[in-house]
Amino acid sequence: MLSSLSSTGSYCFSSSEPTTLVWERLPVNFFKFQFRNVEYSSGRNKTFLCYVVEVQGKDGQGQISRGYLEDEHAAAHAEEAFFKTILPTFDPALRYNVTWYVSSSPCAACADRISSTLSKTKNLKMLLLVGRLFMWEEPEIKTALKKLKESGCKLRIMKPQDFEYVWQNFVEQEEGESKAFVPWEDIQENFLYYEEKLAEVLH
Ligand SMILES: [Zn+2]
Repeated sequence: MLSSLSSTGSYCFSSSEPTTLVWERLPVNFFKFQFRNVEYSSGRNKTFLCYVVEVQGKDGQGQISRGYLEDEHAAAHAEEAFFKTILPTFDPALRYNVTWYVSSSPCAACADRISSTLSKTKNLKMLLLVGRLFMWEEPEIKTALKKLKESGCKLRIMKPQDFEYVWQNFVEQEEGESKAFVPWEDIQENFLYYEEKLAEVLH
């Protein structure tokens, strides 16, 4: 029934003892560099996208899968890769809840891709959490982000707790190493900065 969803790291949450599979995790250094919510993202020309996909049938049975995608801005974007490889089709009999934790907000083309997918897929809900805003001063980006919101996508800036969630759930943990998340100095300040900018863009 739900077997059509195949991806690394999926498990059923309906069974009494869910089997948690190991999914591929982000190397620690990638996380520390790429997800850092600095104000100027120089050198950070990749997008890292961690996803949680929850698929539910009418009977309440469901399946969760997790994983991550990365790209170079020059080649295929991680956002597009998600719809091509992770969720290429939607079964109208199922409900999809998708959460993304992305190092930066999407480019205009990817934002439009998400908006159009949401507009034609009524059984899809999306929550998009971003570490930084990408070129948010550009008019075409502003328009695309507004359209994204209008299409029903929840767009949020990652809070320190969200970075911690990604650290715990998506980043490789070396054996014997402390799993505790160590926030960087300006994490809260940068979050507030981007949150204010996003509110201005979506206003
Ligand atoms: Zn893009």
